[in-house]
Amino acid sequence: MKRVLMHPDLVQVGHLRAVLEGNGIACLVKNELLGGGAGDLPLNECWPEIWVLDERDETIARTLVEQFMYPGVQENLASWTCTECGEAIEGQFGECWQCAGSGGGVFEA
Ligand SMILES: [Zn+2]
Repeated sequence: MKRVLMHPDLVQVGHLRAVLEGNGIACLVKNELLGGGAGDLPLNECWPEIWVLDERDETIARTLVEQFMYPGVQENLASWTCTECGEAIEGQFGECWQCAGSGGGVFEA
């Protein structure tokens, strides 16, 4: 078995387990039950963990973990600058969050 993720948010861990299983990777979650009795341990020793059962799945599992935890990093979309307000917008956003402009067209009042 190989551990592919340690994360304090059990909701995220649960989602990720579903993603891995959806990709045919057998995995299990350790430390699923937080709370009582954990007080004497260093915090990160009782974070939920995801382990893949088959070590051959480790590489693809880690890729899926990264894509899940850091969406956009892998996509490598170029950022753009809004022509309306000049705000720099990250590539995954199709609209300007500042003025809701599309960045490409000219908007007239
Ligand atoms: Zn704008």
